[in-house]
Amino acid sequence: MSLLTLENITASYGASQALFGVDLTLDEGEVVALMGRNGMGKTTTIKVICRLLKNQSGTVCFAGQDISSYPSHRAARLGLGLVPEGRRCFSNLTVWENLMASARQGHWDFDRVANLFPRLQERSSQYAASLSGGEQQMLAIGRALMTNPRTLILDEATEGLAPVIRQEIWKAIAQLKGETGLSILVVDKTLKELALVADRAVILERGKSVWRGQFQALSADVADQYLGV
Ligand code: ATP
Repeated sequence: MSLLTLENITASYGASQALFGVDLTLDEGEVVALMGRNGMGKTTTIKVICRLLKNQSGTVCFAGQDISSYPSHRAARLGLGLVPEGRRCFSNLTVWENLMASARQGHWDFDRVANLFPRLQERSSQYAASLSGGEQQMLAIGRALMTNPRTLILDEATEGLAPVIRQEIWKAIAQLKGETGLSILVVDKTLKELALVADRAVILERGKSVWRGQFQALSADVADQYLGV
């Protein structure tokens, strides 16, 4: 059985429907890329998984439980670690304080996060507000890891960052996959980098999952049809 399963999910913002049938699975130790053009429902799907938005129909199962009726804190406690779009950290806390604020018992502690992102070690006593965008993104990933999740969900983690920093983040994601066997759901627009880490892909088109398969099986035609601009 998959660690995370979404079946035929529909969801709305008030009167405006955003998801029209999303199916998705994520297995233990797997990296799945959630893709689609702007506005196709990627962030909304993530919100439904993390219970920040209620689905209208369909089911969300995680770690063997139907979490469709859970509030977000309960879903988080089960092991859903979200790195939200826009890298939200506490700007008036230091790097160390930010990490400690989300700490929970388990494999991940300050030293392990600092080892993954040496820049955070160097800046541990700096306020988050004084970090560069890329460093804040690393801190956001570090905060999610400190909760010791079973699944890490990354929403546009490399968007708007300098190429060197993006590389560092992709390297960290590859390291997480290889060394810790964490299952990861990653939303990103850069096909080339996704290809280095993703096992499978799910493509959304107007709120529906229209293509699912092995990442390697994603043809140029399919990419063009659903991801091209
Ligand atoms: P992007 O790549 O631009 O982040 P996305 O694939 O993540 O796009 P969503 O943000 O999930 O797309 O948006 C899906 C649809 O829901 C869009 O039509 C969007 O306009 C709409 N939508 C998103 N957030 C809200 C909201 N808070 N209220 C109303 N409609 C929303």
